[in-house]
Amino acid sequence: MSHAVLKQVSTRGIAPAVNVSSAIAAGPAPDGGLYMPEAFPTFTPDDFASDNTLVDVAHRLLQPFFAGDALEASLHDICRTAFAVEPPLRPFGTADDYILELFHGTTAAFKDYGAGFLAACLAALPQGEKPLTIIVATSGDTGAAVGAAFHGKPGVRVAILYPDGRVSPRQAHQLGCFGDNVRAFRVEGSFDDCQRLAKDVLGDAGFRQEIPLGSANSISIGRLLPQMAYYAHAALSHWRATGRPLNIVVPTGNLGNAVACLLARRCGLPIGEVVLANNANDGLARFFAGHDYQPRPTVATLANAMDVGAPNNFERLQWLYPDDAALRAAVSADSVDDADIRKTIVDAYVRFGETICPHTACALAVLQRLRQRGADGDWCVVATAHPAKFPEVVEPLIGTEVPLSAALAAMLARDSHAEPLANDAIELRQCLRDW
Ligand SMILES: *Cc1c(COP(=O)(O)O)cnc(C)c1O
Repeated sequence: MSHAVLKQVSTRGIAPAVNVSSAIAAGPAPDGGLYMPEAFPTFTPDDFASDNTLVDVAHRLLQPFFAGDALEASLHDICRTAFAVEPPLRPFGTADDYILELFHGTTAAFKDYGAGFLAACLAALPQGEKPLTIIVATSGDTGAAVGAAFHGKPGVRVAILYPDGRVSPRQAHQLGCFGDNVRAFRVEGSFDDCQRLAKDVLGDAGFRQEIPLGSANSISIGRLLPQMAYYAHAALSHWRATGRPLNIVVPTGNLGNAVACLLARRCGLPIGEVVLANNANDGLARFFAGHDYQPRPTVATLANAMDVGAPNNFERLQWLYPDDAALRAAVSADSVDDADIRKTIVDAYVRFGETICPHTACALAVLQRLRQRGADGDWCVVATAHPAKFPEVVEPLIGTEVPLSAALAAMLARDSHAEPLANDAIELRQCLRDW
C-alpha cells in the first residue's frame, strides 16, 4: 500500500509539483512563484486528543504534508528540535483578551520557530560534498534567527548581509555574535541593497555550480508550514479550556506569520476570525478596506520588522482565495501609525503593568479598536518579539529599563564581530570563494 504523496505546487502554476523536501531545498519555485501545499488535511480538535505538547501537536499537524517524503522518518526529531520552547497563551488586560508570546526562543522573536524547523530539515536531508552556503539578507530579526538555527550545524555555512548602521545596536550585536560557520557582513547600503546582492548571487547558476547556495528567507515553505504549529497548539488549548474558538490578531509585514495562521484554520483548527495588523505600511489594510491591491514604497516606522511595502506572501493569500470578495470575507486588516504604537505601549504598561514590543503594540491597538466597535468572543494578540529587543523605542515610553530575557542576556554577553562589505556582488562572490 502506498500513500498518495501530498505535493507542493507553485502559486504561478507553471513549475512542476514537487515533494515537500524538494520545495524546502529550492526556496522559490523555478517559475518565480511560491510553493504551497496542493491540498490540506482536515482535522477536528479530537484528532489531537492525545497531543498536549507543542512538539506533539506540530508532529500530528505536519505529518500529512511530509507523508511519503524523504523527511517523513525524521519529522518527529525535527519537531523536537524546532518546537522545544512552548509559547504561553495567557490572559492579557481585560476579560477575554489573551496574548500568545512567541518570543521565548534563542533570538527572542517568532522567527526562531520557522528558522529552527528549516535548519533541522536541511540537516536531515542528504548533504553534498561541499558545504551548503545559506545567504540571508536581513533588516534585523531574520538574520539572527537563521544564524542561531544554523550555528554549529555540520555541512552548512551562513552569510548574513545587513545594512551597516541601519539595524539597532542590539540587533547588530546579535547578528555578529555567532562566529564559526556563521559570518555577518555589514553592507555599505540599505536593506534593499542587501536583498539585491543576495538575489544577484543566488540567481547566478554558474556560481552555484562552484559553491552550492541556499536561501532561508521568509518565502521558504520550510519556514511557513511550521508556523502553523503554534497557532494550532494555542487554539486547541483554548478550545479545551473554554469550548470556544480563538480569534487572532497578527502583526504583519511580509505576511508569513499571518498566512500560517490561515493555513492552520484551513486544516480545521478552532480559529475564528484572523485580523492582520499593519503599521503605517498600510497596503494590506487599504486592500481589505476595498481598494485595489497596490504595492507601495516602504516607510520606516517604530515597528521596523513590519516595514514592508510589498509583502511577498500576498501571492499566497491570493492563491488561497483567488476571488477578492472571498479573500475579504476570510480575512480583514487594519493599520496603526507610530503615534498609536507609542500610545499603546504606554497604555499597556500603565493600565496592565505589561511591557510589549512595538510590533505587538500594532496588534493590540487593532484589537482595542475592534473591541470599541463591539467585537465579542475571545481574542488573542500575537506577541512577535520580546520588548527588550527594542529598548530605544520602549524604554523612554515607559520610563524604565526593560529586563533582558535569559536568552538575550546570553547573546549580548558574547563577543560580536561583523565584516565590512562593499555594496558589490563581485566582492561578495570573492568572499564566498575565499571562505
Ligand atoms: C518578521 C517580524 C514580523 C512580521 O512577520 P511577517 O511574517 O513578515 O508578516 C513582525 N514582528 C516581528 C518582531 C518580526 O520579526
